[in-house]
Amino acid sequence: MKFQPKASHFINGAYVEDTSGTPIDVIYPATGEVIAKLHSATPGIVNQALSSAKAAQSEWAAMSGTERGRVLRRAADIMRDRNRELSILETYDTGKPLQETLVADATSGADALEYFGGLTASLTGEHIPLGGGDFVYTIREALGVCVGIGAWNYPTQIACWKGAPALACGNSMVFKPSETTPLSALKVAEILIEAGAPKGVYNVIQGYGDVGASLVTDPRVAKVSLTGSVPTGRKVYAAAADGMKHVTMELGGKSPMIVFDDADIENAVSGAILGNFYSSGQVCSNGTRVFVQKGIKDAFLSRLSERLSTAKIGDPLDEEVNFGPMVSENQMKIALAYIEKGKSEGAWLVSGGNRVDGEGYYMQPTVFADVTDDMTIAREEIFGPVMSVLDFDTEEEVLARANDTEFGLAAGVFTNDLTRAHRIVAGFEAGTCYINTYNLAPVEAPFGGSKMSGVGRENSKLAINHFSEMKTVYVSMNDVEAPY
Ligand code: NDP
Repeated sequence: MKFQPKASHFINGAYVEDTSGTPIDVIYPATGEVIAKLHSATPGIVNQALSSAKAAQSEWAAMSGTERGRVLRRAADIMRDRNRELSILETYDTGKPLQETLVADATSGADALEYFGGLTASLTGEHIPLGGGDFVYTIREALGVCVGIGAWNYPTQIACWKGAPALACGNSMVFKPSETTPLSALKVAEILIEAGAPKGVYNVIQGYGDVGASLVTDPRVAKVSLTGSVPTGRKVYAAAADGMKHVTMELGGKSPMIVFDDADIENAVSGAILGNFYSSGQVCSNGTRVFVQKGIKDAFLSRLSERLSTAKIGDPLDEEVNFGPMVSENQMKIALAYIEKGKSEGAWLVSGGNRVDGEGYYMQPTVFADVTDDMTIAREEIFGPVMSVLDFDTEEEVLARANDTEFGLAAGVFTNDLTRAHRIVAGFEAGTCYINTYNLAPVEAPFGGSKMSGVGRENSKLAINHFSEMKTVYVSMNDVEAPY
């Protein structure tokens, strides 16, 4: 086994195994080869992970912010030093090209550790004078044990985007990666220990949805942060509500990207490529409904087809390759079924549309045009390399159509008209908007969705509010007045 970890789970600072758990085969999507064999967490493992997180949390929270921040920043440095090794692992885990993983996964995780490590020492409450000498002060407190549950598209990034702000605030974490991509989160846990985090502060356990569900309902857990689909989000949110737990929900989308006649066409095509085909289209914020104004449609489609014909599909470990396989056979089949649906509902297949012959779960980058708002490919999240191009005439019309979806994760506009750009983003019903670019997610900026796409925000200073709460302390400097 090429990437067999020492054991399936990382609990209380060490690898732990329980072979009675359901087997998990880790598959390299480019070849179908099994690269590791793990086991899903048993109830005993879940209990061990939560107990270790519970026991470690108060010691961690009692450390000064400066000390906690130093651990996170050290972890960021270690991740950057090992970027290549971690990126190769991420490529085997997900199938994403090394060209991508070298710049978007461990590096993004390191950014989160560095950013939140830098904020830790300045996390404070405030002093509120009330007159007559009385005052209130507030104490920013950790929530306790937080659970992180991840999707399979950005396993290292998700483990860090949840872990870094949680730990910065003095919480501990039990993280469950998707069983499709279970390897990288174990490395994040190892690195945090190496950087000086006390044992038990960050634990990783493997498993299917049932393991996630048992974490969410455990009374020791104060908060759940999920990255996943809307149906899973609904279940997890409901289960967390029963225990009145805090939640962050980063869910799916069907985001619009609007290209006006006056847009810079090269930039608009680049945005559409990045927003549909990066990571073989397996990105939650993708702008999969590309609304193109009629006057620019032919030029846009012909330039898009030209550029797509230069995509290098192939061995993800070859750094020249920029388009890899889908994460799994199942995900490939789902995306191919949507392509059939697009064809049968009358959309025009401009390019792609097929599985690539040979081993691995490869499919072609696919573009449909003449897509209408009611077609399945324009309404449902595909989570694969399938772009839908829709025509429009006016600004008012396109904004209404762009917002006509239950999702609200992201939205973008390409135009050279400054006032129109701001008018459009003011009207977008989406948490993360772009003007003349698409799909960037720097740690400094809040990221998250509205409507069915989520609750709360990751990254930025806002994430701190989702991993801590304020205690209010009223201090009287006067006698207590009572009515009798
Ligand atoms: P899923 O919703 O299927 O799973 C997400 C995670 O939740 C997995 O670890 C899964 O485990 C776990 N899970 C499943 N059922 C439960 C349950 N009842 N209780 C607790 N945990 C559970 O998503 P995918 O992994 O298929 O990822 C793709 C989805 O993620 C897409 O919809 C995409 O849009 C979204 N996503 C959102 C992002 C964002 O930031 N908004 C970023 C990336 C992806 P298991 O895998 O074992 O079922």
